[in-house]
Amino acid sequence: MEANLIEIFSSVQGEGRYVGCRQLFVRFEGCNLNCKYCDTEHEAGIHTLCEIEAEPGSGRFSQAINPLEASEVAAYINRFLQALPHQAVSFTGGEPLIHWAFLQELLPMINARIMLETNGTMPEQLETILPMVDIVSMDIKLPQMTGGVHWALHQRFLQLAKEKDIYVKLVITGNTDMDDFNKAVNLVAAVNPDILLILQPVTPVNGVERVLPEMLLELQQQALSRLRDVRVIPQTHRMMNLL
Ligand code: SF4
Repeated sequence: MEANLIEIFSSVQGEGRYVGCRQLFVRFEGCNLNCKYCDTEHEAGIHTLCEIEAEPGSGRFSQAINPLEASEVAAYINRFLQALPHQAVSFTGGEPLIHWAFLQELLPMINARIMLETNGTMPEQLETILPMVDIVSMDIKLPQMTGGVHWALHQRFLQLAKEKDIYVKLVITGNTDMDDFNKAVNLVAAVNPDILLILQPVTPVNGVERVLPEMLLELQQQALSRLRDVRVIPQTHRMMNLL
């Protein structure tokens, strides 16, 4: 199997439950959504080259020609893991589950904890690789940010992934619709009120409105009436100017 990758690099996880952990990031090209606040050039076919960090954390990159074979990617990953222990290998994008068949071939070749950073809208594809995944970082995408309605897919996805080390991330903007926010909280609570929910204030790009601190506190308070663990965590790698 082959896939187009954007980059492979070692850095600090900047979001979610494992913020601060050293992870190896494998970023795929391609996504099935088009979020207003997206900061990744995810369009399929635009990356003829994959950027690969020379040594963990060096910031020096070489290029490999896309598409890459699963065995080639496994060799790059294992080289990083030998040079430095990483808390997990994080597969991100874009949407990594677009490449589910590639991941089926790749994941058995990697001896590390596997983390999936996903928009949570591809449950059938998740099922094909779920036994090989340790950590699921799942977004719930609110309709006003994607232009599409994904509640049924999110619900099915969360039902499948709930036995894993999972947390759910909701990006909050200044215009977040309260009805949609409450639907998202109810969806998580119905599956398991112990699932960690992370409210991530948007990093304003493409004219998306930033969220005020009072609104974040209010939303956290509302969510805590139905979920046991609700945390507000911004994109910390942006603050530190890390990849
Ligand atoms: S799901 Fe993620 S990668 Fe895809 S468009 Fe939305 S923010 Fe971008």
